[in-house]
Amino acid sequence: MKVIIVGNGLAGTIFAKTLRELTQSAEIDIFADEKYHYYPRPNLIEFLAGHIPFEKMFAFPEEWYREKNLNIHLANPVKKIFPDSKEVESDGGKRTKYDALLLANGANSFIPPFQGAEKRGVHSLRTLDDAFKILDYLKDHSRVVVIGGGLLGLETARAMRLREAEVEVVEFFERLLPRQLDVQAASNLKSQIEEMGIKVHLGLATEEILGQDEVTGLKFKGGEAIKADMAIAAAGVRSDILLAKEAGLETDRGVVVNDYLQTNNPAVYAAGDIAQYQGRVYGIIPAAFNQARLAAYNVSREMKKYEGTIPSNTLKVAGLDLTSIGLVNPEEGSFEELRTEKREEGIYKKVVIQTNTVVGAIWMGTKKGADQINRIIEQKTNVEKWKDSLLEDDFDFSVL
Ligand SMILES: Cc1cc2nc3c(=O)[nH]c(=O)nc-3n(C[C@H](O)[C@H](O)[C@H](O)COP(=O)(O)OP(=O)(O)OC[C@H]3O[C@@H](n4cnc5c(N)ncnc54)[C@H](O)[C@@H]3O)c2cc1C
Repeated sequence: MKVIIVGNGLAGTIFAKTLRELTQSAEIDIFADEKYHYYPRPNLIEFLAGHIPFEKMFAFPEEWYREKNLNIHLANPVKKIFPDSKEVESDGGKRTKYDALLLANGANSFIPPFQGAEKRGVHSLRTLDDAFKILDYLKDHSRVVVIGGGLLGLETARAMRLREAEVEVVEFFERLLPRQLDVQAASNLKSQIEEMGIKVHLGLATEEILGQDEVTGLKFKGGEAIKADMAIAAAGVRSDILLAKEAGLETDRGVVVNDYLQTNNPAVYAAGDIAQYQGRVYGIIPAAFNQARLAAYNVSREMKKYEGTIPSNTLKVAGLDLTSIGLVNPEEGSFEELRTEKREEGIYKKVVIQTNTVVGAIWMGTKKGADQINRIIEQKTNVEKWKDSLLEDDFDFSVL
């Protein structure tokens, strides 16, 4: 069996690794747009902050690809897919045949179409090359504004602060991380971010990047403005659907997949930030990981159904442990919300319960119990008998 993978990010690499564990006989070719071997994108934050050097960015050494007999083609993107003849076209018009194809070409940073978005000094962070460009620009520019107070925006802001830049974060919503936190946790987080010397502006919609050719500031709806000489957009990502669309595969916000992670062409699978499953592009590591592993099973063994991934996020802002899992802001209805807070220790914990199972949790200021609560959410464990003690510091999760 000949298998081709488009993209060597997390989904492409985990798919290749799993497929090799399942079969020795498959011929596996990975085409990569970037010139680097696979690096986990969270490492970009640590690299930007100066915490890890370039050599430590990568998940596997070069020999690993040889040992696993994975043919990797770096800086050699797939340019076209021909689903009818089961071929892809790469550099120099070279065509390669496949029996199964995985689309794992991920997503790109989205820079909203602000007036002036093309100016020098406007950046985003998705790839190692983006990180190099940011660090290079930072040499002569030290006032950074991060547009977007989501996970990526806050972590980027922290990294810039560690490089001793003056940093401000601008968020459109009235609170930080509205999808991952409730009002209380968001307010605690804002205070903690500000204690790091990062200024946070809420409820501001960026309208224009100011400056002649270079960024000199940002103007917001309503006329308010701030000075800055570098803007980093952290305003979300968009799945890179063009290749699939041109090949006639079904696309929407992502490449549409069925329960088996197949596109509308059964020999073409998709996983990770490119894939749209039941109307949703997850855009997170746990989903890319689950989908990639399952797609590898489906290519080589009996077909198994994907049943979705419960979103879970961990924020790694210095000195701050924050985990958000599943449904944290339920609508009114059949939900119970249990909370505990120890202000002086910066600890805030909350669980959302529906018919005796935990469906969401926020763990802030502590990691203790975070993995366990994640597991009981995934396993839909009945917690009826333990509701009163679940949030206690020394709760023994083994009873569940
Ligand atoms: C700085 C940063 C920090 C993050 N931190 C977290 C986190 O803490 N937790 C979390 O859950 N998620 C995090 N994410 C998101 C997470 O990294 C993504 O969900 C994950 O990378 C998705 O993996 P993927 O393989 O689907 O896509 P990608 O990582 O986007 O990889 C796709 C690859 O395909 C390549 N490609 C594109 N087109 C082609 C082509 N035509 N031919 C060949 N190759 C192609 C791209 O160059 C890219 O290398 C973070 C993202 C960033 C940028």
